Amino acid sequence: MKRRDFLIKAGVGVTAAAATVALTGCEKDKQSEQKGAGPAVITNKKYEWRMVTTWPPKLPLLQTGAERFAEMVKKMSGGRLTIQVYAGGELVPPLETFQSVSQGTVEAGSGAAYYWAGKAPAAQWFAAVPFGLNAQGNNAWFYGGNGLKLWEEVYAPFNVIPRPLGNTGVQMGGWFRKEIKSIGDFKGLKMRIPGLGGKVLAKAGGTVVLLAGGEIFTSLERGVIDATEWVGPMHDLRMGFYKAAKFYYAPGWHEPGTTLEAMFNKKAYDSLPKDLQVILDVAAAECNIWTLAEFDAQNGGALQELIGKHKVNVKRFPPEVMADLKKLADETLEEEADKDSQAKKVHEDFKKFKDQVGIWYSVSEKSYFDVIAKKYSL
Ligand code: CA
Repeated sequence: MKRRDFLIKAGVGVTAAAATVALTGCEKDKQSEQKGAGPAVITNKKYEWRMVTTWPPKLPLLQTGAERFAEMVKKMSGGRLTIQVYAGGELVPPLETFQSVSQGTVEAGSGAAYYWAGKAPAAQWFAAVPFGLNAQGNNAWFYGGNGLKLWEEVYAPFNVIPRPLGNTGVQMGGWFRKEIKSIGDFKGLKMRIPGLGGKVLAKAGGTVVLLAGGEIFTSLERGVIDATEWVGPMHDLRMGFYKAAKFYYAPGWHEPGTTLEAMFNKKAYDSLPKDLQVILDVAAAECNIWTLAEFDAQNGGALQELIGKHKVNVKRFPPEVMADLKKLADETLEEEADKDSQAKKVHEDFKKFKDQVGIWYSVSEKSYFDVIAKKYSL
């Protein structure tokens, strides 16, 4: 019999165990009392939460990642905290996720912070920054730098607590019907590309077209748009974009490591016993690792299928195009940051941190990749 089952079955044991934990917890609390921290006593009280997401039902790694997170929380808490996960539109419209968590209509949500730019412009820096940090760099900023602290600060007025819940890794630059040879080829180009990346495209003379996921393929196939970005090989293969556009460009300069998020309503989070709060935090961090691992593992196979089976022409943006886009991206970021004091604060910290890890990555990660990537270079 497992220790937990034994304790539950032997009622006396539960009381004794709870009392021990309560005493130990109280002693520790005196030393590190935190405002808003939940009670330290472990009881068998059950909590039933609801989580809404911005993702379509069954969307691999994004919706399924949120569902996996809920499953982990249930297992880790021995069923004391269960989270029912709803895909976008099942309970509330996808883009009402943040608001629903903020108002406490639901206890939790999942999405990507750039969706909430209208509420807090600074939120965009926590999801994806054109020519910003990759997944490794973002995690360094969140856990090792000021990233998560700043993110909490930005969401605090909304009573929302954020946690990184996953990362896509470097995305692809998108599917283009025509070859891109110079920055001039973006002039008049109609492209589906959201967020800050879209603002950069507009600066290059392109037209940003907003389309729901289900409308992209047909629009590309019929020439209503000339190009689209989506995610990476695994998700792009499922969308069938290779049937509608000839050129598949790398890298996703506009989304070099998009962070996915978990959001908790602050009141709901604070009312949980401390161990359940830690379980939420740890399960989110575990899901953050799992998601990136799955993206990396599955994108490799999907890219091979796109090239081998579907004869997709994988290209890199020419270096001059990348340099021009980077210049436009730097200008865009400064302009956007200047519009909002909180965005400015986050942007300055992000830039400083990027330079700091950038120096280190140039001698460590890059030196290493330069050597091993030769074998795989397309
Ligand atoms: Ca994307």
